[in-house]
Amino acid sequence: MKYLTYIYNGDETYGAVIKGNVYKMRDIIPNAPGSLAEFIERGVTIPDEINILNMGARSVPLADVVIKAPIPYPRREIICLGRNYLDHVNEIKTDPNRTAPETPVYFGKRAHPANDPGGRIPLHTGVTDQIDYEAELAVIIGKKCEDITEADAFGHIFGYTLINDVTARDLQVKHNQWYLGKSLAGFCPMGPFIADKNEIPDPQNINISSRVNGETRQKSNTRLMIFSVAFCISQLSRGFTLLPGDILATGTPAGVGHGFDPPRHLKKGDAVECEADGVGVLLNFVG
Ligand code: MG
Repeated sequence: MKYLTYIYNGDETYGAVIKGNVYKMRDIIPNAPGSLAEFIERGVTIPDEINILNMGARSVPLADVVIKAPIPYPRREIICLGRNYLDHVNEIKTDPNRTAPETPVYFGKRAHPANDPGGRIPLHTGVTDQIDYEAELAVIIGKKCEDITEADAFGHIFGYTLINDVTARDLQVKHNQWYLGKSLAGFCPMGPFIADKNEIPDPQNINISSRVNGETRQKSNTRLMIFSVAFCISQLSRGFTLLPGDILATGTPAGVGHGFDPPRHLKKGDAVECEADGVGVLLNFVG
């Protein structure tokens, strides 16, 4: 099952995509919560696709809706992993530590709101002139995680989406900490769908890529992560409680603009696409 938040006939709502059609959640479950975030937080169970189709619920073609970020206002910061693919660690020539980290590098990213599929990534002229893209698989937590093992991690996942961890490279360096350079308004495109975990049997074997104006920039697979999804969930859960709806962005592979010589940062008018098998394509425009 794939879930989405969308606008149809002026109403923002959420639902499921089945065979190219969108089913509003309240047409499937009459007393469903008001948002996809609440649906995840409350652990609502949904009939399987065949049962939904057999219900005869009304639907609209996917092409007729405006897709929004699946969780437009994440309740907490996105938990991000930095330097989680070795080829990306090696491509940043200005990084004094170009060796694989021995422990995960976690940082926070403000995404309140997240940016929508098709949304504009602002230039922030006068604040930064080094905007970069980072295609990342993002994990949506489905159950409270407290002191869980790696083996139990998958049972606590709701599903997966894509995040473009847009970054102001100059601010990332200037401020020593990454928070500001990662958190400018519009810097967290998310979507287009949340694929539930059953759609992605192995999160460590997903092709992930990005393109700028149609030119492939990143092309990798999540098997190349240094620290796996399960490892990170287990480790984080030993230090604090992960809650349903929390989002973990798992790092980006090589091919970011800052890794080129000379760097190829984003500029006004660029079209940036991130893609992950099973999730879809997340397209945004710069400026
Ligand atoms: Mg990143």
